[in-house]
Amino acid sequence: MPSASEEIVQKLPEAWLLDMDGTLYLSHCVLPGAKELIDHFNQNSIPYCLFTNNSSLSRKDYVVKLENLGLDCEPSRILTSAWATILWLLKRNIQRVYLMAVPSVCQEFSDAGLILDSVNPEVVVLAFDQSLDYEKLKRAHQFLLDGVPYIATHPDLVCPTSTGSIPDCGAMIALLKASTGREPEIIGKPSRNMVDMASVLLGALPQSMAIVGDRLYTDMRMGFDHGLITVLLLSGETQAEDLKDVVQKPDYCFGGAKELLEWIYSSGRGG
Ligand SMILES: [Mg+2]
Repeated sequence: MPSASEEIVQKLPEAWLLDMDGTLYLSHCVLPGAKELIDHFNQNSIPYCLFTNNSSLSRKDYVVKLENLGLDCEPSRILTSAWATILWLLKRNIQRVYLMAVPSVCQEFSDAGLILDSVNPEVVVLAFDQSLDYEKLKRAHQFLLDGVPYIATHPDLVCPTSTGSIPDCGAMIALLKASTGREPEIIGKPSRNMVDMASVLLGALPQSMAIVGDRLYTDMRMGFDHGLITVLLLSGETQAEDLKDVVQKPDYCFGGAKELLEWIYSSGRGG
């Protein structure tokens, strides 16, 4: 695995998929170099999108969050697993959805023309529902036993917060697997669905796109599985020692966004 100083870069990725939490910021703090990295992409018209599995925020929520953090990113560049799920459903002409999600994400589904249906849905959709309650679980359980198709926005087991981790969508998937035996189709990282949507959004083939992230089992896994250039940043979940025992190592590894930007500059194509 080359570092910035060891590698003579032949060709930079044509487009960049940037994870957010642990990559650009941690909770409410922008990580060093993140703002400069985004500014560099904006000023040089380099295709990129912000790419997150977190489906507890709508794209509108993210615009506000990013503005508050001082990160300048157009809404059209934000690809959440919830938005990817909406696009996936619309593409298949699926309209009636039993949705487990927070109110702002439910609103995002409605605004996109989907019908929230808790009686006769065509599909059950599980998002990172921080308002999940037993009534919703009971209803989902019965729909799954009845054989209604089932998708989930993403498989992350926990979500990091400033006060420690909290149960995420993957833990909710495990609960419903235990009660029904059903497993969902996953839309978010590391599935192919997210890669295809980013490819269309950015007009680049997977092999010319880089995934930049802090997690091995979602960000890097997606890159490994679907042929993207993998760039691991050690500014979030993964520690340097975690790499010692992994079979498949990322193409590049940097301490954080600041070091990544220095590498881009050092390639001679820094703009
Ligand atoms: Mg992350």
